[in-house]
Order: sequence, then C-alpha cells, then structure tokens
Amino acid sequence: MKIAILSRNRKLYSTRRLVEAAEERGHEVQVIDILRCYMNITSLKPTIHYRGEELEGFDAVIPRIGASVTFYGTAVLRQFEMMNVFPLNESVAVTRSRDKLRSAQLLARKGIGMPVTGFAHNPDDIQDLIKEVGGTPLVIKLLEGTQGIGVVLAETKKAAESVIQAFMGLKANIMVQEFIKEAGGSDLRCFVVGGKVVAAMKRQGPEGEFRSNLHRGGSASLVRLTPGERATAVRAAKVMGLEVCGVDLLRSNHGPVVMEVNSSPGLEGIEKASDKDVAGIIIDYMEKRVNEVAHRSSRSRTRGKG
Ligand code: ADP
Repeated sequence: MKIAILSRNRKLYSTRRLVEAAEERGHEVQVIDILRCYMNITSLKPTIHYRGEELEGFDAVIPRIGASVTFYGTAVLRQFEMMNVFPLNESVAVTRSRDKLRSAQLLARKGIGMPVTGFAHNPDDIQDLIKEVGGTPLVIKLLEGTQGIGVVLAETKKAAESVIQAFMGLKANIMVQEFIKEAGGSDLRCFVVGGKVVAAMKRQGPEGEFRSNLHRGGSASLVRLTPGERATAVRAAKVMGLEVCGVDLLRSNHGPVVMEVNSSPGLEGIEKASDKDVAGIIIDYMEKRVNEVAHRSSRSRTRGKG
C-alpha cells in the first residue's frame, strides 16, 4: 500500500512509530505536513498539491491532526476522501470529536455514562446551572482547551460563580461538570482500534493535582479494565464514528464515565505503559480495512449522526 500520514512533524514519536510499522510491513509511506497542502476544490477531478507536486496513488491516509489545525487539517482529509483514499478516521468523525459539547450530546443521546454536564451562554443563569449539575465542588472546562489547560476545579459556590463569570466575560465557551472525586486524580486511557480495546493505561496526576494529563506531570501505568469499562470505551468510539481513538474514562461511583474521545491519540504513553506494538496493530487493522473496502463499491462509511 501507499500510505499518507498527515502530520505536522515527522519527528514526533507517534508519527515515527507509524512510519516504522508501515515500512516493516512493506508499505510505502509519505509524511505530509497538512499546512503545506493546497487543493483545487472545484475540479471534477479533486487533487491535492504538496510542495509543487500533485499527490497521487495513495491507498490510505492516516490523519494525525493537532487540535490547533483541525479546520484546515480536516479539509485536507476531506479532499483525500473525495479522491477515494481510505481514511483511517473519517473527517466528519474527527471534526465531531474536536467539539466537546457536540461529543457530549452525542454520547448522552446513546445513553453512555458521562459526568453530569451543563452548558450555558448567559451569566444570569449561573446559579441555576450550578444547581443543575449537583452543586460544588465542580469542574469548569474551556471548550477549546487541551492537555488539561482550561480545566478548573471550583471547591465552593463562590469560587465556581466567579470563575464562570470570568470565563463568560472573556466570551469563552465553557462546560460545567460534576466533579468525580472518587477518581482520585486518575483516569483510564483506553486505546480503541476497530471496535476493540487493544491497550489501556491508568494515568495518575501528581500529589494534590486532580488532572491526570501526562503533560501536567501525571504518570502512566498498566491497568486491567473491567468488562463494563471495555464495553463503554468501545461504544463511545462507535458513537463518534472513530476507528482509531483514545477514550478517556473516569472510575465513578456510578460506573465508568466518558470524559473525552480523542481522534489523534498519542502512541508514546500507551506503548510504553502497555509494552504493546500499538502502531503495528493500527497498520494491520488498516490493511484489513483497505482490502475490505476495495471489495465494496461504495466507500462512504460515515457512521454516527450529527
Ligand atoms: P483536556 O482535554 O484538556 O485534557 P479533560 O477534560 O480531559 O481536559 O480534563 C483533564 C483532566 O482533568 C482529566 O484527565 C481528569 O484527570 C481531570 N478531570 C476532568 N474532568 C473531571 C471531572 N469531571 N471529575 C474529575 N476529574 C476530572
């Protein structure tokens, strides 16, 4: 196969590992910087140009689109889809997963466990919103935040009100969420490939920190998931329409709750914690899917709704 990896930087661990795994299996791989692609979107024969040359002959594309380049990155991915190149994750699913509110609504609609979550636009309704999610302590999240930045724990009603007011004053979109105290500053990253959890790790924040993000100094270890946790992760991936993703769960008193579904999950933490060749598993799965799709006439696979 000829595989395109959409990534801003070929030196990143995840990108390097995918290249390695694909080459080990005899595939031809090209790492493409999304922001250097340009396209003619009106042509009957859609094309993508890259550094002065037309991109041609690809069988599959692996999107590794960072949050800051979602808009342009998904447009490039869409263009590959129009050229009938098999996308490991579809552009609609990637776009969907980048919108925390939209993702939460989709997951809730399918009855998947989540922390009680509220959203409002008008500061006049703050008191009622706080009551609606069960009072304090509660977590306030910037919708555009990543890597734990913009996630605040408000212990008291006064603190919650002033943080919400401050964010709203800045015209930032926020979510207000029940604080899952019993998670004890840890979460579970379930790596899903093709409807199966292929690796999992527990991330634990440093002492006194409720956020478990590795970027915030958290540490990762191997974990054994319960069947309920596995099932929740697989269902969340399916609802989002993502073939490869990282589903983050919290262990709550009312069962596993989904916090986020990440469409470009990093490989470094999970491969090191689980000691598994996750990149190899991804490429093997992609080979299988490309062969399946080649035997079908329609390549439209948009699943999930919204
Ligand atoms: P980001 O997308 O910026 O990483 P998250 O929503 O994943 O933001 O939150 C970052 C971390 O904060 C999570 O990994 C988790 O450890 C902690 N956290 C987030 N929401 C809650 C919550 N409702 N209850 C308890 N801990 C939470």
